[in-house]
Amino acid sequence: MDLGLKGKVAVITGGTVGIGLAVAEGLAAEGAHVVLVGRKADRAHEEATRIAGLHGVEAIAIPADIATSAGCDAVIAGASEKFGGVDILINNAGTGSNETIEEAEDAKWQFYWDLHVMAAVRLARGFVPTMRQRGGGVVLNNASICAVQPLWYEPIYNTTKAALMMFSKTLANEVVKDNIRVNTINPGLVLTPDWVKTAKQIAGESGYEAHLQSVADEAGGMKRFATPEELANFFVFLCSNKASYSTGSTYFVDGGWLKTV
Ligand code: NDP
Repeated sequence: MDLGLKGKVAVITGGTVGIGLAVAEGLAAEGAHVVLVGRKADRAHEEATRIAGLHGVEAIAIPADIATSAGCDAVIAGASEKFGGVDILINNAGTGSNETIEEAEDAKWQFYWDLHVMAAVRLARGFVPTMRQRGGGVVLNNASICAVQPLWYEPIYNTTKAALMMFSKTLANEVVKDNIRVNTINPGLVLTPDWVKTAKQIAGESGYEAHLQSVADEAGGMKRFATPEELANFFVFLCSNKASYSTGSTYFVDGGWLKTV
């Protein structure tokens, strides 16, 4: 099946590991050029070089902290200079939190607001005009099942991911006339290196797999983690022409964890 992604240019924030890296790989496998964004420069460059070699596409790294306005500007300038604009923006960079509302200070709320919401706002503002010039485009926002089904220990994560979902819907309405499709994906449990690291910290080398299984069992549904590639397949489809009637929606890819309709 030709997904129509050959030669497209995609920016993937957090494209250097985990879900974002799998999405970058999936897009590159379809012939798209990719821009990997992350703070750790070495890892970003290594993965870009590997993807370019493996898939015969152009892959570049832009090391930047997208929780800052300057970092977003660097991504917009770098991608525009290299490719003259982009066709696909994947707002994926993000991380979990751990606090109570009573104890968390403003600075923590502000950090997550900047990372999960303002980065998407700033990058959309920078890239939408170039998408318009190119005749259309795709923005995908990676929120979380926690945007609608909160986990008790991460109120800031739940709240900022819910805001990202609403931003996505609102942007979709604004740019539908420009042939730019905007959607949100809400993943459930996805086995990224970070989950493994945390599980090892909690349960040790011998107990981490059992710990991860207990997390999956508690979620219910399929009672297992997805691989990053399973998520990436869904992202790649939504980026493609095969999803041409899809905009303004939120798609859950959570193995049945969501408890509501
Ligand atoms: P990882 O921790 O594996 O990767 C996060 C990526 O984001 C890395 O590339 C990291 O690179 C980058 N990143 C983090 N902060 C910044 C920043 N300030 N500026 C630029 N880049 C940054 O995450 P996952 O793959 O697990 O998650 C990806 C997204 O999916 C997140 O938004 C997460 O909330 C969401 N999600 C994940 C789920 C899961 O189970 N894994 C479930 C539901 C949603 P670097 O550290 O070098 O900056």
